This record gives sequence, C-alpha cells and structure tokens, in this order.
Amino acid sequence: MLSASPSPDVVVIGAGIVGAACSYYLARAGMRVQVVERGFPCSGASGACEGNLVLWDKAPGAELALGKLAFECWDEVQRTLDFDFEFDRKGSIMVCANERDLEEARRTVAWLSGEGVRCRLLTPEELFEEEPALARDLPGGALFPDDAQVEPRLATVALLEAARRLGATLETEVEAQGLACSPDGRVQALRTSRGAIPTGAVVIAAGAWSSEVGRRFGVEIPIRARKGHLIVGEKSPGFIRRKLVETGYGDTVESSDAGLQVAMVAEIAKSGTVLIGSSRQITGYDTRVDPFVIQAIARRAARFLPALRQMKAVRSYAGLRPFSPDHLPLIGPVGPEGLFVASGHEGAGICESTATGLLISQWITGQPLALPGEWFDPRRFARGPGAELRVPGPAS
Ligand SMILES: Cc1cc2nc3c(=O)[nH]c(=O)nc-3n(C[C@H](O)[C@H](O)[C@H](O)COP(=O)(O)OP(=O)(O)OC[C@H]3O[C@@H](n4cnc5c(N)ncnc54)[C@H](O)[C@@H]3O)c2cc1C
Repeated sequence: MLSASPSPDVVVIGAGIVGAACSYYLARAGMRVQVVERGFPCSGASGACEGNLVLWDKAPGAELALGKLAFECWDEVQRTLDFDFEFDRKGSIMVCANERDLEEARRTVAWLSGEGVRCRLLTPEELFEEEPALARDLPGGALFPDDAQVEPRLATVALLEAARRLGATLETEVEAQGLACSPDGRVQALRTSRGAIPTGAVVIAAGAWSSEVGRRFGVEIPIRARKGHLIVGEKSPGFIRRKLVETGYGDTVESSDAGLQVAMVAEIAKSGTVLIGSSRQITGYDTRVDPFVIQAIARRAARFLPALRQMKAVRSYAGLRPFSPDHLPLIGPVGPEGLFVASGHEGAGICESTATGLLISQWITGQPLALPGEWFDPRRFARGPGAELRVPGPAS
C-alpha cells in the first residue's frame, strides 16, 4: 500500500500544471491530497510549452468565462504564494499580416471590448512604436494590455509546493493503473504501480494521456494528443516586449484538422531567451522534433520578425496538448461516483489551470461552482451525436 495513514481524501493523477492546481485548491479547501505522477513534475506538456495567459484566443461563452476566472485566480495566486514564477502582466499584441487580418482584429476588439476585456486596435505606426522588430509592411494590430505570462515549470512547482505546505503529498514514478470500486459503484481505491491507495475520490489530470487512464478505468475520455513544436532562440534582451501572435493563430486553435498548421507566436522569457512557435498537428504520442516543422515555424515567424533570420536557435522541443473534440476542457465528474476529470485544455492549459483547480475543488467539496458545471461536463460526449455542442455563456 502506497499511501501514508490516514488515507487521502483525494488522489490526483498527474503532476502537470492542471494536477498541480487541482492539488493546491483541494488542499486549500481542507482535503488530504496525494498526487501520483508516473514521471516527474512537468514531464508532460507543462514542461514543453510557453506560459501565456491570454483572453483573445478564447471563444465566446464558456471558454471566455473560464479564462476570466483563471485571470482572477492567477492574480490571487501570484499575490498569495510566496514564490517567484515570473508572473508578468506584459500584455500581448495580435499582429495582422494583411487587410483580412485587420478586419478580423477589428471584430475581435469589438466583441472582447463588449465583454469587458481591455483592448484596442493599433495603427501601423503604433505597432512599430510598441515593437520595433516587427516587419515594416504590416498593416496594424491589436493590443491586449492585461494579458500576462508565467514561467510554466516554475508555476507548476509553485502550486505543488504550496499544496505540500498545506499537507498534500507527491509520489513520482508511480503510475495510475486501475480503479477499485464498491459494488454500488463508488471509488474505493486507486491501483498504482506501487500498490493500492484507498481513497474516496480520484482526479484524472493526466493531460494528453487522460484517455489512456480513462480506458484503464473503463471510462471513455475522448482526448487526443495535439503536438506542438517550439524553437528557443539565443538570449536577446529587449528584442520584443510583449507576447506577439499573428491573427491567424486563432484559426489553427479552432481548427480540428489533424494536418500540420503553423502560425507565428513569439515571446521573450525573463532571462532574455526568445521563444518562437507555433505548430499544431495530430500525430500520436511521439514527441521527437521534426526538422521540417521547425523550418516551417522559422519561416513563418521571420515574415513578421525579419531579424530572426540572423538569430541563432539554441534548441527546439515538442509537447503534446490535450485536445478535446469540441475544443472545451473536461472538468467534473465522470464514471463511478468519486471519479473526476480535469483535462483537455489544448493550448490554454497553463492559463486555465487555476480556474480548473478551483472548479474541481468545488465539485469535490460540494461548494457552489464558480461556473455552471454543465459547461465543461466530461459526460457530454457520451450523449451521442449532437451532444458536442459549444455551451453558450451568459453574454453570448
Ligand atoms: C508548444 C506548446 C505551447 C503551449 N503554450 C501555451 C501557452 O502559452 N499558454 C497556455 O495556457 N498553454 C500552452 N500550452 C498548453 C499547455 O502546455 C497544456 O494545456 C498544459 O500543460 C496541460 O497541462 P496538464 O497538466 O493537463 O498536462 P501535462 O502537463 O501533460 O501533465 C500530465 C501529467 O500526467 C502524467 N501521467 C500520465 N499518465 C499517467 C498515469 N497513468 N499515472 C500517473 N501520471 C500520469 C504525465 O506524466 C504528465 O506529467 C502549450 C502547449 C504546447 C505543446
């Protein structure tokens, strides 16, 4: 038996940022929490990504509401936790490549302003004043001054450490393998590679592997891995200030196409390291870097930031985003009583992790939910064709 006495109230599977946030909010709510991780913290997507907290990529309704809740949670977490995880409200700029993009930026600014998100269009002159490294022929952009950035690995470790200080425990190199339930269908224990852990609640926060964990538990969790590559450029302090994203990035996020899609994103870490993305493709669970994809990313990014052609790439890597069929995460109960899932955030899991942790803690402790539970109901896919609807939020 793996667990210390007394048994945990909740076992969280996965020590990526979503599992870390669930364990923090659950421990804060007074739960005895144990995290089991088959590798080490951040061995999944949370260790192979960027750390942007942005709202402009959220769809109207449920997704934007989750993003706004996450922003509130991040504000509170960064004020409360005694850790520097490089939280920086640096703002982001949507960069337009042509007149069509400009039209799209106009629409985005109009609807997000209506939702209370601070943003405004930038003329070409204002764009270059903000970011002098951008190509001179770009027709403009849109500024989102409240978007922020964290260092995702530090943020994950900060949430895990904060949970530990509240009594949570973390077991690494322990794989969740099965579930033991009572005859009336309640969770009784988690079976792991190092023995059973008696518990009344289990949270699957296994990122792109959540479907594999679900299968072991006899539960359908329709999450696939969506691969993304990143290039790390040499340290270039001041090269850019804000997070930069081309307008077409939203289309790659919204698309369900399995083929390769590339859109420019660029940011600079506190250390001065430049991060260049992005790619999306569904190719299984292989995280090897594909030089063809790296070249495609570099070419696209240089269209917007010509000086990149001279910048040295230090390394590149790829991670697996947990991709849900309707582009919304799965947060809430699934299968036997006591089983929950917190996964499927695709390219927004760093941003949405805090709100997800809060909602999971509210589900498990029976507190009122901060957002309607049906919006992210993991059981929505089991209801047959037509059930995979985007759930409209209050203002849409
Ligand atoms: C290139 C790239 C850029 C990105 N940029 C951003 C960004 O700027 N902003 C943003 O918000 N998001 C971004 N994302 C998305 C973000 O990285 C993910 O949504 C997020 O990290 C998912 O976190 P997670 O905890 O759900 O999954 P993961 O971090 O993958 O963690 C899952 C964990 O579960 C463990 N596990 C799996 N199976 C088992 C098992 N059976 N037993 C025990 N443990 C198990 C794994 O080892 C892993 O550590 C990006 C992703 C990529 C790939």
